[in-house]
Amino acid sequence: MKPAFTVHLLLGSNLGDRAALLAVARQQLVAAIGPAVATSALYETAAWGREDQPAYLNQALALATTLAPLALLAQCQAVEQAAGRERLERWGSRTLDVDILLYGEAQIDLPTLIVPHPRLAERRFALLPLAEIAAEIQVLGHRCTVAQLLTNCSDLLPVRRWSA
Ligand code: ATP
Ligand code: CA
Ligand code: CA
Repeated sequence: MKPAFTVHLLLGSNLGDRAALLAVARQQLVAAIGPAVATSALYETAAWGREDQPAYLNQALALATTLAPLALLAQCQAVEQAAGRERLERWGSRTLDVDILLYGEAQIDLPTLIVPHPRLAERRFALLPLAEIAAEIQVLGHRCTVAQLLTNCSDLLPVRRWSA
């Protein structure tokens, strides 16, 4: 039997029915990748890096998977495509973004996949939902936990818990 790894993903949406898009994405990710281990609340944040765009809903999701990293990335991108994701400009608005924040304890540096996610430490909108489900996990390359990264994060964009 292949070993299972816990992967932490960040889901984001700022176009269309954001909460419904995230709900469908969660189901599709579980079907394609593996069972959910933990799911954070939904959080709303102004668009990072592009303040002229609608606010995002974000959610962190931990899944158990036997997929190798690039196969995992391919499944994440297939779920983005199923949500009608279009890549028009960097950090442009999107129906669905699925980023791989952590893959077990692996450090990955490939042309198409860097893990831990290279901008995790700069993003309150990623650290806050992740800290809800993985506060004590060590983040490779930073020598500290998710909770410590959140404490030290200088990102000032407010991130609020969101409910419909
Ligand atoms: P950011 O990476 O700053 O969050 P983004 O999510 O808008 O920006 P995308 O257009 O979704 O960027 O992805 C661009 C490329 O990033 C993808 O095609 C993928 O190959 C690559 N990539 C590298 N590392 C990761 C990762 N950890 N998770 C998801 N994609 C990654
Ligand atoms: Ca992203
Ligand atoms: Ca992405």
